[in-house]
Amino acid sequence: MKPERKILLAMHDVGILHFDKAKFLIEKLFRITGKPFSLLVIPHLGNATEEEKQAFTQQLKDWEKRGFEFLLHGYAHTADPDQARTFRGKLALKLTGGEAEFAGLSEADSRAPLEHARNAWEKLGLGKPAGFVPPTWHANSFLKNQVLENYEWYEDRFFLYSKEKKIFSPAVSFAGIPRHALALAAIYWKACVHLPFRLPRLALHPADLELLGETLFEKVTAVLKTGEPVFYREINAARTKP
Ligand SMILES: [Zn+2]
Repeated sequence: MKPERKILLAMHDVGILHFDKAKFLIEKLFRITGKPFSLLVIPHLGNATEEEKQAFTQQLKDWEKRGFEFLLHGYAHTADPDQARTFRGKLALKLTGGEAEFAGLSEADSRAPLEHARNAWEKLGLGKPAGFVPPTWHANSFLKNQVLENYEWYEDRFFLYSKEKKIFSPAVSFAGIPRHALALAAIYWKACVHLPFRLPRLALHPADLELLGETLFEKVTAVLKTGEPVFYREINAARTKP
């Protein structure tokens, strides 16, 4: 009998940039899972050609039809280096190579890219996303509440948040890990997989394939043996009455 725990399987950084890489990995993972999972989409289409934009949108629509779940993943997934940020925010930018779009922003500055993301998403003509996940999970003091005004789920590295709930759910990820620290990351991965956390989040990135090669798929297969995959939309966001 499988243990009771649930596993969120989320593919991060599904954006128009490096889209082929993401698509390849998503389809390969689908063959392992046998069912759709969550995709974290970067909605900003940047300088892509009309043809690229169409192909991207069409593929998202196809995944939606097949039952994949979408969450918004920032607006552009790159930070504006000239914006004012807290000290921690500036540090987050350094640590993430400038990807921490929301890190350390003021209340108003944080709201702007959130709105841009919503508008860009609406143009894609897809259903409402199940949540909003800031790029690299680095955020600011305002983002969580701003997100929860419009979306059911928000998350950081260790918790999932709805308006009413805070659920412990450690993210297991190889993103941003330098090659020399891979062994350590593998130990953390194993710990998260084997400790009895009820809802670990497996956060995969297109770059994982280059980092781990085919062992990535063995790792995912092993994790999926320890629990049932679940969608964000299937988790009850409301506080359950005692
Ligand atoms: Zn990301």
